Amino acid sequence: MLQIPSWDLIKKYDRPGPRYTSYPTAPEWSGAFQAPQYLEHLARAERAGGPLSLYVHLPFCREMCRFCGCNVVATHDRSRADQYLDVLEKEVALVAAHLPTRRTVSQLHWGGGTPTFLDEAQLTRCHAILARHFRFLPDAELAVEIDPAITSRSQIRTLAGLGFNRISMGVQDFDPRVQETVGRIQGERETADLVEAARAAGFHGVNLDLIYGLPYQTPETWADTLRRIVAMRPDRMAVFGFAYTPWFKPHQNLLPREALPGTEARVRLFLQTVEAFTGGGYRLIGLDHFALEGDELARAQRAGTMFRNFQGYTVRPAEDTVSFGVSSISDVGGAYAQNPHKLKDWTDAVEAGRVPVDRGAAMTGDDVLRRFVINRIMCQLRLDLGEVAERFGAPARAAIEADVRAGLDELTADGLVTFDGQVLGVTPLGQLLVRNVAMLFDAYLRKPAGASKFSRTV
Ligand code: SF4
Repeated sequence: MLQIPSWDLIKKYDRPGPRYTSYPTAPEWSGAFQAPQYLEHLARAERAGGPLSLYVHLPFCREMCRFCGCNVVATHDRSRADQYLDVLEKEVALVAAHLPTRRTVSQLHWGGGTPTFLDEAQLTRCHAILARHFRFLPDAELAVEIDPAITSRSQIRTLAGLGFNRISMGVQDFDPRVQETVGRIQGERETADLVEAARAAGFHGVNLDLIYGLPYQTPETWADTLRRIVAMRPDRMAVFGFAYTPWFKPHQNLLPREALPGTEARVRLFLQTVEAFTGGGYRLIGLDHFALEGDELARAQRAGTMFRNFQGYTVRPAEDTVSFGVSSISDVGGAYAQNPHKLKDWTDAVEAGRVPVDRGAAMTGDDVLRRFVINRIMCQLRLDLGEVAERFGAPARAAIEADVRAGLDELTADGLVTFDGQVLGVTPLGQLLVRNVAMLFDAYLRKPAGASKFSRTV
């Protein structure tokens, strides 16, 4: 049952904090982690065995949306994708050579950018590059992100033919004024047509992604967008708060700053979203996802098999994620490794025969423990100290219990958590501020200025 936090409570907990798509979080990673370190962890992953997750970053978009926070190359020249695939082919071969026996894949994700910037032949080639080295399990999840404004029915059929079964479409907002302001024009009709085309082609999971906090969004226009989204009956929605960081993403300076909703308005837009979607038959998953009750993600949350990664919430079929393409992030053998951000740096490294690593982090024992704990809070909204003891031993349980007790009085008094001496539970009110609960266990935030590099939690 949804509970709306008071305005005082929101103000109290509105502070910078991570979204916990990784732990340690990206600002803690170091340039000292390079290809030799990554290869050590790949070797560890090779020995561990089991199916893998793969991620491929396809950075091209025809236009740069003014709100975008992704690593994007804006171009109309499709031949650039051919050049990109030439490099990708070499990178996949370089990395796969270090995984001689671990080649089975249970999950694949193509993100961007816009993967459907690639035409049908390029999409087919991209898949073949992976299939040459890896074997996809018959029930593997193959997911792709698309921009409905530039995607054809023929591309959808090609992707389905390659085995893709889950599709995410960026919508953001249907209001014409908002769309014009953010530089992304996309009709409701074309989105609805593609949802239908994806279903007809055999996709069994359709996700729609929205953004709140964009310029000129009002409760009235947003209500209209939410109503139209619910009417399309996607299986899942992800609803992200717009991160306005023009110092980091200078193209956001093109947005009218005075038209951005303030903190209170943003909170109201999000709460309005929760009400509209839960009222429409969807379950709020963790921080910002919604799923139909019968959807795999909702089932995984109930079963405790949901995980948080760079794509948000996911059903976790594999322990290790190997990623390819510019700026992509791997999570293998107890380490994160990120490829260079710049296309040229990534290309140069691969062309020189080097596994292209720009920075990363090898997890310590304490990191592994805290990653587990933070995942439990962000995904299951509960933490069983008995489970911590079982997996990590009594001293680990004692350390985590000490963290719980340090924050307990305040969080309990504010109604965000319950604790019975064994299980810490996040209340429905606490779910809306779940990052603040997870922050209790983040050892890096205890360093001076530890939290200042993150967006605000509300
Ligand atoms: S289509 Fe997506 S990735 Fe490309 S610029 Fe727009 S928001 Fe960014």
